[in-house]
Amino acid sequence: MAKQTRPCYIVGNWKMYKTIDQAVAFIDQIAPLVANSSCKIMLAVPYTAIQPLSEKVKGTNIVIGAQNMNDATEGAFTGEIAAIMLKEAGAEFVLLGHSERRIYFKEDNAFINRKVLKALDSDLMPILCVGESFEEHQDKQTDKVVAQQLTECLQGVKKELMVAYEPVWAIGTGLAATPKVAESAMKQAKAVLGDILGDKVGSKVPLLYGGSVSPKNAQEFLESSEIDGLLVGSASLAAESFAQIISLQAK
Ligand code: PEP
Repeated sequence: MAKQTRPCYIVGNWKMYKTIDQAVAFIDQIAPLVANSSCKIMLAVPYTAIQPLSEKVKGTNIVIGAQNMNDATEGAFTGEIAAIMLKEAGAEFVLLGHSERRIYFKEDNAFINRKVLKALDSDLMPILCVGESFEEHQDKQTDKVVAQQLTECLQGVKKELMVAYEPVWAIGTGLAATPKVAESAMKQAKAVLGDILGDKVGSKVPLLYGGSVSPKNAQEFLESSEIDGLLVGSASLAAESFAQIISLQAK
């Protein structure tokens, strides 16, 4: 029996996949399959799909969000997108600090910190992603890296947000962390969040695990009392596998 004490969050990250037509077809397929779920189901979709999907999911238990944003209110930042634009399109949350943004687009903790502050200011729920590289994992630096990323990304933050522990070595590799590794990082995250936000707010922050989650391994993470939910990449692209993961929560 999975724990039921706190809400459960299942977040899909579609990355740079799905046209609007494909995204709409996905919702048609998954909405009836997950209609009875008690989980909060969240989909971080490409920018072009935010507006049509926000309309499409009305009346369902699915909410739509973005995968990134800029920290500026507006300005001459070609190719960037502002929080107010995401809100207008219907986004309710935004992924920030995903390792693909950190690695390929050289985003640092200071920039991510400004985005977190901007998202909270704009009434967009940030899901802050943190996690160590393979080398740091081998060097047993996980706690240190998680603490540093949280501390630097949450400077000046006072409000509740969501945090995803996503070890870089587990993302898109098929090599998920064990629940034990994830739980240890979550404990560290919880302690740091308590220090930064105070125990009252810090203890409410939902902590998600992400990295090669599939229908085969999702249950063991969902059963952990340290883990409030999952951030799912490739297994969120097919309605069947994503619905299967969501259905595990109730078992
Ligand atoms: C992700 O993109 O956040 C992710 C966890 O990807 P995957 O599930 O494919 O490892």
